[in-house]
Amino acid sequence: MANDDDALEMLLSDPETDPRATYVLEPDDVAHLVARVVAATGAPGHTAHSPLTGAPLAAVPRSAAQDAARAAGLARAAQRDWARVAPAQRARVLLALHDLVLAEQSDILDLIQLESGKARASAFEEVADVAQVSRHYGLRGPGYLRQRRVPGMLPVLTQARVHHRPIGVVGVIAPWNYPLTLALADVLPALLAGNGVVLKPDEQTALSALWAADALERAGLPAGLLQVVVGGAEVGSAVVDAVDHIVFTGSTATGRIIARQAGERLIGATLELGGKNSMYVAADADVEAAAAGAVRACFSNSGQLCMSIERLVVHADVADAFLPAFVARVRAMRLGGDLDYSADMGSLVSAAQLERVAAHVDDAVARGARVLTGGVHRSDVGELFYAPTVLADVPADAVCAREETFGPVVSVTVVPDDDAAIVAMNDTEYGLNASVWSGSAAHGRALAARVEAGTVNVNDGYAAAWGSVAAPLGGWKASGLGRRHGREGLLGLTEAQTVVVQRGGRHVSLDALFTLPEGKGQALLSTGLRALKALRLP
Ligand code: NAD
Repeated sequence: MANDDDALEMLLSDPETDPRATYVLEPDDVAHLVARVVAATGAPGHTAHSPLTGAPLAAVPRSAAQDAARAAGLARAAQRDWARVAPAQRARVLLALHDLVLAEQSDILDLIQLESGKARASAFEEVADVAQVSRHYGLRGPGYLRQRRVPGMLPVLTQARVHHRPIGVVGVIAPWNYPLTLALADVLPALLAGNGVVLKPDEQTALSALWAADALERAGLPAGLLQVVVGGAEVGSAVVDAVDHIVFTGSTATGRIIARQAGERLIGATLELGGKNSMYVAADADVEAAAAGAVRACFSNSGQLCMSIERLVVHADVADAFLPAFVARVRAMRLGGDLDYSADMGSLVSAAQLERVAAHVDDAVARGARVLTGGVHRSDVGELFYAPTVLADVPADAVCAREETFGPVVSVTVVPDDDAAIVAMNDTEYGLNASVWSGSAAHGRALAARVEAGTVNVNDGYAAAWGSVAAPLGGWKASGLGRRHGREGLLGLTEAQTVVVQRGGRHVSLDALFTLPEGKGQALLSTGLRALKALRLP
């Protein structure tokens, strides 16, 4: 990362001649966003630097731990009225946000690229995702929340209904890798369910999250319901202490800390954590399509994607055709940091991330892995760029064989048959996403049924499952708890309440049944229970 003097020099460069000058955020343009942070007046600010240029972005106030409690109090006060608003009316805010995000995409795409360093095509995935999620919940959410009649204890006499009530205030802690998507993916269903929200984005990408909060209010969300605090672990931990349910997206290590804290408070926790995802190219796969799909699956967002493929498993029968086709496509990838669609892959987000990626590759090579392409820091493109990298013969004791790299690095393993492929795919503590390529949908489905992962894409890497927002998305094993998207993602942010009305007055009341003399009530109930089963009443 450039030091501040370099960055200042860049800021002062002539905007007529230096194209990077367009990368500078004007303080006046973001002042209304920065003002949204819940922090004490005069609180020290944090200035993130753009991974693309090293230039400082904007000073964002840092919240203190007590600001998280204050934010929760403000959200709680606003939530009381919001809980009384009909779900269909709440849904209108989501549908308005859908239109707004698509209409203003060029602004938010710039901001996402500046904060995260990603290519514009990867930034657009975030815009598309927000449109998908807001449309789905805007149209289907009120139906998911509708009360449900279920069979009561006594047919006809006992009427049972299940309601989905708001929990209160939901905390959302988000990482830096999808700053817009992960600021909204859980906030939208939380709000639709009638909750208030405290959002804590990563400090590197706070402006995108603040843009999302601002856009929601412009879409009609009442003021106060969504509060944003900015800071690191200390503030995140204070959020967990102040809310009634926590949604955390981030590393498995931090997820375990948050789960312990939520357990102590007996609040619910939805945890979307890391992955070491695999993709299998079966013997009957279309090899060219699989090679093109693997490029997107492994290197979208520079591999800094929880659903990204880091392990390629290839059937021996197609390895000689697949590998050269894949490597040729990887070599042809365009790296760049322009605020347009000219690059296939952008930079990494930070010097720490670059260091981690290089360390994983160097460790694997030192233990005998072969570099099929990449394996180098691309400082010629920019300070935080790393070449998309394909490794073969990665030994089992290499760090990248087991740990999530979270960068543009994939290892290739050749297997003799499907059974060996399934063993290789499941040989990980994680279970987030997987991909299977086959010429037959039936074969693909049969393989998917044997994979231990929350999502399995057949003939795609990750986008098909991610974009199928009506279906639940989340991790097995160490990849998480709970689900986002679909009915599950919305109802997981509610409290179920069962309301049972016993009709019929005193002569059929349960009290009367239980107070019959000498076990007569129990005998009657036993007869009734046998009858219910015989009549197949559930
Ligand atoms: P991280 O766990 O370091 O940080 C994530 C967030 O948690 C940040 O906002 C951070 O400030 C906050 N935080 C850190 N320590 C905390 C603590 N003790 N208490 C409360 N908050 C705390 O993760 P990261 O490195 O920023 O993100 C990358 C990770 O996120 C990868 O492992 C990736 O797989 C995962 N991820 C998962 C999904 C998913 O849906 N499963 C999506 C995106 C990213």
